[in-house]
Amino acid sequence: MDTPSTAYLDHTRKLLDARAARARERAEAARAGAADAGGAPAGGGSGGGASSEGGGSGSGAGGDVASLSWERIAADAEELRGELRDLAFDLHDHPEEAFEEHHAAAALAQLLRAHGHRVETGVGGLPTALRAVAQTPGGGTSAIEGDGDAGDARDAGPTVAILAEYDALPGLGHGCGHNIIAAAGVGAFLAAARELERGVTGPGRIVLLGTPAEEGHTGKEHMIRGGAFDGVDAAVMVHPFGYDLAEHAWVGRRTMTATFRGISAHASSQPFMGRNALDAATLAYQGFGLLRQQMPPSDRLHAVIDSGGRRPSVIPDEARLSVYVRSLIPAALRDLSARVDDVLLGAARMAGVDVELDWDIHPPSLPVRNNHVLARRWARTQALRGRTALPGGILPDSLAASTDFGNVSHLVPGIHPMIKIGPDDAALHTARFAECSRSGAGVDAAVDAAAGLAQVAVDMLNEPELLAEARAEFEAAGGRLAVADYLG
Ligand SMILES: [Zn+2]
Ligand SMILES: [Zn+2]
Repeated sequence: MDTPSTAYLDHTRKLLDARAARARERAEAARAGAADAGGAPAGGGSGGGASSEGGGSGSGAGGDVASLSWERIAADAEELRGELRDLAFDLHDHPEEAFEEHHAAAALAQLLRAHGHRVETGVGGLPTALRAVAQTPGGGTSAIEGDGDAGDARDAGPTVAILAEYDALPGLGHGCGHNIIAAAGVGAFLAAARELERGVTGPGRIVLLGTPAEEGHTGKEHMIRGGAFDGVDAAVMVHPFGYDLAEHAWVGRRTMTATFRGISAHASSQPFMGRNALDAATLAYQGFGLLRQQMPPSDRLHAVIDSGGRRPSVIPDEARLSVYVRSLIPAALRDLSARVDDVLLGAARMAGVDVELDWDIHPPSLPVRNNHVLARRWARTQALRGRTALPGGILPDSLAASTDFGNVSHLVPGIHPMIKIGPDDAALHTARFAECSRSGAGVDAAVDAAAGLAQVAVDMLNEPELLAEARAEFEAAGGRLAVADYLG
């Protein structure tokens, strides 16, 4: 008998400790009279006092984002509105599924080239991935551009990646609104690049990465393994939603199939000569149902029976289950995977059949590790656009789906805020949400997000303290975790 996993309790304890530490910091800052939150709606600027004062020397983009930098970036994003609208609607009108996003990749590349940027395609081994790089004048040869030799450029300031998704869903088109992500990402890159060209930022690089195949295929993990994130110091992106959220919970996910193999026999005349593979599949399915009772609230488990025989008169000699295993906690994801194995092996044993377990047909994704330091900075930009981006913990974690950004967020500090494009009951992956992603509200969100992402990215070049603080938080949360090493 194995002992129950403590992953959920450990995780909860860590969260409570971190929350208590933040509360202590806030109280101390208030006592010292230094809690100048600048009217930030989320998080009260806790811990931001020192960092925001410390940076931005000479650029005016430091503690107060209502600065010259923000004025320019917001104006640039606004100026791009028509082009971002056209891009978002074009992608919406030409939905393409994972790895097939040729029209979308070409549309992004065309817009980037029209603004004078060189675009590299086939990045990280994916034909429909792309990359464009903007760097401060005299910033040296980019480690990011070309073949990704991550050597010399690192002393010439940080590299911040802005991510753009553009894949669609089978039968639903842009029911997840990735066309808005693409418009926001390209807009953010173009606006940030203009700041770099003006020579008003600290040294560094802004990289736009076009990241295909988010839906069901973990495209970003393919790009990580292909080297596309080598040399990147932080990554930012946005996702449309029914709420404005600076942080949202996303569960990690593993996929697997279990193939049961038994012995066929006549179901009436000689059933005793058979071994029923479908029995094993249904026992496993029921086993999952019972296992749910003992799973922590952080976890999710679902399965379908793909195949289980052809006619009732023949004992099925093969049956197949497809399974998704999910958790908000990496350690719990690993523990739950082991229990799923036990249920499947036990079901096979009961039915007297063999079972073949195939894990991670698509690379697994980790839960998103939101960087609070950068999320607070995002919330401040959105306040200036008239949006209240809620901090984490207000919307229940149970509303979590999965995203391949989880793997990126465990490699470098990152944010994946949500931006409102429709009513709060408009759910992702619905025809209604697809309508929202081709609307005026969707375009407004793309422009607001473009300005916000650009500002957060530029701030990281202007304020070394900001990135250092984000990095310190990342390390305190466990540091780099490569999914390939962790889950195989
Ligand atoms: Zn989706
Ligand atoms: Zn999505």
